[in-house]
Amino acid sequence: MQALVYTDTQKLIYREEKNPKLINGESIVKVSASGICGSDMHAYHGKDERRIPPLILGHEVSGIIDKGKEIGKKVVLNPLITCGSCGYCKNGREHLCSKRIILGMNKPIERQGGFADYVSIPDKNIYELPKNLNMHEAPIAEPCAVALHAVELGEKNIYKKMEDCKTLIIGAGAIGLLCGLILSKIKYCKNIIIVDPNDKRLKESLKYLDANGFKPDSKKITSDHFDLVFDTVGLESTRQQAIRCINPGGIIIHIGLTQPSGTFNFRKTTLQEITFIGTYCYTNKDFEKTLNILNNKKIGSLKWIEYRKLKEGSLAFKEIHNGSCASPKIILLNS
Ligand SMILES: [Zn+2]
Ligand SMILES: [Zn+2]
Repeated sequence: MQALVYTDTQKLIYREEKNPKLINGESIVKVSASGICGSDMHAYHGKDERRIPPLILGHEVSGIIDKGKEIGKKVVLNPLITCGSCGYCKNGREHLCSKRIILGMNKPIERQGGFADYVSIPDKNIYELPKNLNMHEAPIAEPCAVALHAVELGEKNIYKKMEDCKTLIIGAGAIGLLCGLILSKIKYCKNIIIVDPNDKRLKESLKYLDANGFKPDSKKITSDHFDLVFDTVGLESTRQQAIRCINPGGIIIHIGLTQPSGTFNFRKTTLQEITFIGTYCYTNKDFEKTLNILNNKKIGSLKWIEYRKLKEGSLAFKEIHNGSCASPKIILLNS
């Protein structure tokens, strides 16, 4: 098969690779579309110890079952593979399973990803493509589940109605935009501000999201003001903004992990009862809920997605890296 292989830092080559072999309890999916995620970019920059080259990246995948129990079925994949038998898995918090792995990772266990003609996946991670969801758009289910999980963690922990919350979203990438769309269209939040240094991307997001958008250093972003802050970037500077801007009693939801460590204002966190929530992936239930949301068009048009050919995927990575790309999400198409 052909695959887009991550071979070295900032290097991807479209080349011939061995087809995955069918193993018990799994299926081989002929990939139709696969999204480029922030975590793929992280790997591309040589900064992900779980993704070591050579490796086929990509975990946001839709396609058709080619080998396995239900050949010909159109599907979307939940790339988070868990053990199914530990305490977390049994209690609906599979995403915290200590044996969890994701497609397109090779440490500690190898799982080749979706930027290829074929990918192998456990049957329990396969979901039927919802009727009203287009095969090319379907990879958005994965980041959408991440955003839904994050928003609902905020909702569970805030002492206010979501619709009354003043919300700041840091980062207008796919996760930032999806959090915004869920907040606005599903949780009816009316007061949303989104910030991003990339003007083009910010403008593009604001075509679809009912929010005010600014550069991160804008004077409009006031201190001690927001009930909810979503840091979808995870840089030292964005975390500092989050802690500066959060209201007493407010909640910071930390989704991005660009810089894994830095300083933190523990004084403010303590004296003003700030809740800081780290969030990772989603539960199986979140994933199912997301498919339902997308099937019912609850977050509106997905025209903000941009499409490229898989074989030209290397160029798409370069554009995302350069910041010359306006779209919050690029999905690679196999044909
Ligand atoms: Zn992703
Ligand atoms: Zn488990």
